[in-house]
Amino acid sequence: MTTLRDLGENGLIQRFRALLPDDAPADLLTGIGDDCAVLRLGGEVLLVSCDASLENIHFQRRCMPGEGIGWKAAASAISDIAAMGGEARFLLVTIAAPSDTETAFLDDLFRGISGAAAHCGAVIAGGDTTRSPEGVVIDIMALGVAPGGRYMLRGGARPGDVLAVTGWPGLSAAGLLALQAGVEAPPLTEKHLHPLPRLAEGQWLARRESVHAMIDLSDGLLRDAGHIAEAAGIGADIDPDALPVSPAFREYGRLIGVDPRALVLSGGEEYELIIAVDGAAWAGLKKDFGAEFELELTAAGRFTELRGIRVAGEIPDETGFDHFRFG
Ligand SMILES: [Mg+2]
Repeated sequence: MTTLRDLGENGLIQRFRALLPDDAPADLLTGIGDDCAVLRLGGEVLLVSCDASLENIHFQRRCMPGEGIGWKAAASAISDIAAMGGEARFLLVTIAAPSDTETAFLDDLFRGISGAAAHCGAVIAGGDTTRSPEGVVIDIMALGVAPGGRYMLRGGARPGDVLAVTGWPGLSAAGLLALQAGVEAPPLTEKHLHPLPRLAEGQWLARRESVHAMIDLSDGLLRDAGHIAEAAGIGADIDPDALPVSPAFREYGRLIGVDPRALVLSGGEEYELIIAVDGAAWAGLKKDFGAEFELELTAAGRFTELRGIRVAGEIPDETGFDHFRFG
């Protein structure tokens, strides 16, 4: 008997997709398979995404404050709008919790969601609440607009494009390890509890002709680069010596006992952006980005004709997080 574990997350999505009718309406510009659905409604191009956060899968109450759990859940949904180059506008928030959940925790949780929404310029417009038999579940729908109708998909990458990433991937994953181990490491735990969706950066990048594809880093660099490559029908080769390793790893990496480069490759929930950039335009884009934002933009590899994701030419054994295989 085939189970979810055999299928994996992508297999499940493909299976559901096959059950849909072929004739999608013309105002559904992009359906299943990208960071957001793209819809044309009332003269606007809308970007819509939803994202679920489950206790003991995405967060653990024993080592995370309610406010941070809420902030991360909202940031995760809004980050999908950033990945398309959009502006975040509204959130619908569903919360399910067992009857004996302390109201103080739920207040903190909602303050976190509301704080992330305000930081991103989005407004909480409604939602749903329900009882859960076990564990807290947060589901957030984010609705945004594509400025001028322009948005960036995953599938435009071409062989020879530079694979670049913003910020310091792996920091959030290291923050989670620090929280679990009870280690004081503020630059790491702050990144895990209060990730900042790269909305302004995403909009700026989506306006550049030389940027061919974009995704947010939610499942790990290897896996999300793989999503771009797969959507484009190509591959990518990551240069392990070029990976952006945060200076904070030097200070705290030993305390939590991790190999920084392994976390940079596999750490999810980072909410940075991964892009495919025309090789000839890369140096200019990096310079212009640096003049506009106080954020690293690092070339970590190249997209290749050869399909699949490689690290220094080799197929890695760990390609990030798959909910059904590693759950
Ligand atoms: Mg995404």
